[in-house]
Parts: sequence; C-alpha cells; structure tokens
Amino acid sequence: MSEILEHRKDWLICHNCGEFQTIVALSPDHSLVCYNCNSLLHSGHGKWLNTATAVVVASLILFFISNFFPFLTLEVGGQAQTATILDGVGALIERNQWLLAGLVFTTIFLFPLFEIAAYLYLLIPYSMNKRLPGQHHVLRMMIRAQDWSMLEIFMLSVVVTSVKLTDMAELYLEPGAYAFFVLVGMLMLAYAKLDRRKLWAWMNTNNYYHTVENEYAYDCHICQALVGESIVDEYKSCPRCESELHRRIPQSMQKTFALILAATILYIPANLLPMMTYTSLGVTESDTIFSGVIELIAADLWWIATVVFIASIVVPIAKLVIMYYLLWAVHAKIRIGARHRAALYRISEIIGRWSMVDVFVVTLLVALVQFGFIYTVEPGSAIIAFGAVVVLTMIAVETFDPRLLWDAKDEAEAEIVARALESQKAEKRTEAEDAKD
Ligand SMILES: [Zn+2]
Ligand SMILES: [Zn+2]
Repeated sequence: MSEILEHRKDWLICHNCGEFQTIVALSPDHSLVCYNCNSLLHSGHGKWLNTATAVVVASLILFFISNFFPFLTLEVGGQAQTATILDGVGALIERNQWLLAGLVFTTIFLFPLFEIAAYLYLLIPYSMNKRLPGQHHVLRMMIRAQDWSMLEIFMLSVVVTSVKLTDMAELYLEPGAYAFFVLVGMLMLAYAKLDRRKLWAWMNTNNYYHTVENEYAYDCHICQALVGESIVDEYKSCPRCESELHRRIPQSMQKTFALILAATILYIPANLLPMMTYTSLGVTESDTIFSGVIELIAADLWWIATVVFIASIVVPIAKLVIMYYLLWAVHAKIRIGARHRAALYRISEIIGRWSMVDVFVVTLLVALVQFGFIYTVEPGSAIIAFGAVVVLTMIAVETFDPRLLWDAKDEAEAEIVARALESQKAEKRTEAEDAKD
C-alpha cells in the first residue's frame, strides 16, 4: 500500500491549520513553528536519550516514595493527622463520592504511573535498538493521556492548601511531599526531552503513505505521518500508529457544542452550591468557589486568592467563551482573523486542566482536616459539578477540529484563484476572437 518517497520524508502538515511545510536541517536544539499559524511543530531535544532515560528511572522511584510514604502532617491543638496522597481518594470513597474519587485517582495516580511505565517501555528498548510488541500503541496512548496526567496541578493545590491552613494549624511536609516535588520537575524534564519524532521514525521510518501519485495528504495528529486522502477515506486510521484519522473530525461542531452547553449548565450549580463545608467547635459553615476567594482576600492571602480566582473562575469562563466564539466563527464562515482564533484555540488547550486546582484542594482538605469536634472539612455538592465542567470542556477542546478555523479562509482564496483563472480564460478567448477578425 505504501512506499517511501524520499523527497517527502521531511515533510510535515501542521495539525492546527493543515498547511504543508518541510523540516529544514536543524541543529538538535532548534524548535520549529508553523509559518502560517505559529503553533509548535517540533521542539528541539538536543542529546535527549540518556537524559530522558535517567530522569524516567528516577521518576519511577520518586513516584513510589511520594505515594506510599507520609505526605503531609497537620497539627491542631496538640492532635496530629498525617495523610498520604491516596488518603484523599480514600476519604472521597468513604463519603460515596465515587465519580470524584475516580477522577482524582486517575489524574494523580493512574495516568502518571502509566506515563512513567510507558516511557520506560519505550526508551530502554530504544537505547538498545530492540523492538517490543505493542510499542506504537503505548506511545499513542501516552500522547493521548498526557493532558490527563495532572501532577503539576496537584502540586499547585498542595501549595494552596498549605497557605490556607497556616492560620489555623501547623502543617509539616513529610518525605512523600519532598519526593513528589522533585518528581513533578523530573516528569516535566522527561516530557521536554522526549523526541517523539525519533521514536516514531524508529518504529517505522515511513512517514508518507499514499496510493495515488501526488494525492492530497492529511497529517496524523499523533505520529505526524502524512497520509494520502484515499487512505484517510478508506481506512479512517493512520497506517503508522493506528490512531483515528479524518479529513475533519466527524460532527466536530455538534459534539463540541453539546459538550460546552452541558458544561455551561453545570457551571451554574458549580458556583451556587458549596464546594466544601467545615465544622469548627459545633459551628458549620460552607464555601462556594466565590466565597472561598473572598475569604482568602479577607485573610490577606492575596497571592493565593489570585491563583484560585484565575484557576476556578477566570479559566472556566474564558474557556467557555472562547469555544462559543470559535464555533460561531466557523459557523458564520468568518474569513479574517483565523490566525488569532488559532491562537485562542491553543490557549484554551493549555489552560483548561488548571481548573482542577480547587478539586484537588478540597480532596486534600478532606483527607487532612479531620479533628472531630475541633475542626472537620467535608466535600460540598458543587465539587462534582465543577469537576464535570473541567472534564467536559477538556473533551470539548479535543473534539473541536482546529482545521475548521481555516476552511473559510481557504475557500475564499480558492474562489479568488478560480475567478482569476476564469477571467484569464475569458481574456484569451476575446484575444483569439480578435485575432480571427
Ligand atoms: Zn499551522
Ligand atoms: Zn499516526
């Protein structure tokens, strides 16, 4: 079915706008951005393999220390409460918050562990040039799961939680927490160092697949292969990494609209209902997202109030507004400003997951602040709605096909070219007629 065309081996198609471009010979440290929409096509990795492998082996050890050793200790009036990371999940399960427990467990334990295991399964055999079964599935799943592994967001929640608690209690970091902070840095480094293009090329050097000579090609979002339209139409999957492939994501607009509409509706209870309730010396009070921010300001914790305000209020609203705007612009076939909209899309891709901060803060508080009559924190009913808003908007960004943003502009350009050709032909015709006369 496929053959390598040498001259197309270094071609790329930008997934955000669909433009063809070649990869010029680069020094290993250089990055490439799309000439049309400025999105990152390829980042320089330098001498990446040894660093990445060492970092990932260290991450595995740190992962076990941070999860199975004590994480934080809270002391209130002579009583102490120590918690591990997973105690938060346990506390949610005890309160029958299964969905929430599942979300937290997946994002701070399951996906990060899978990520580390996947790195090891790919990098060590790669350094020995030994192929193992299913490696392309592992790399594909790893790339897809990346956004759902949220350790750095959990780290921010630990900071927010400890600042919140400084007024009422003593908080101590345990060995698990120190290991965790290093782990987050290590995984970020591994992510930055990993040269996915090299790994894909190692599994299969061919990155151009076609059945018809010079047919139009589409890019694979996962492995960046170029796949001819005949293959896309017939097989609907990438020959190299087996991920789903379409000219445009089917029903992209409808799916995205349904998801952000659901998120908009859930955003109302997420803000009106309490995120958590706390009982101190027999008095029960509750905090919504907004009153939580006000309280932080009242306590003069400006810095942390800003973080929570941005993550829990600004980001979800901004993301919903951006997605509605993008859907409208595609629907109304707006031709100008595609580059700005592409930038907005990339922003909403990056910021959305940071809203999980508040969800993790409540989880941590519920695990830590259990001092019976003196002080107890319980999760509120808003938290599940808020978690759903974050998840739904994240999926909405994935179902939205950014190439749609450029279709109106491309159509307009095609029209102009067609019109120019038409008038050229007409001119030639009149010239020919004139010559006849
Ligand atoms: Zn582009
Ligand atoms: Zn692929």
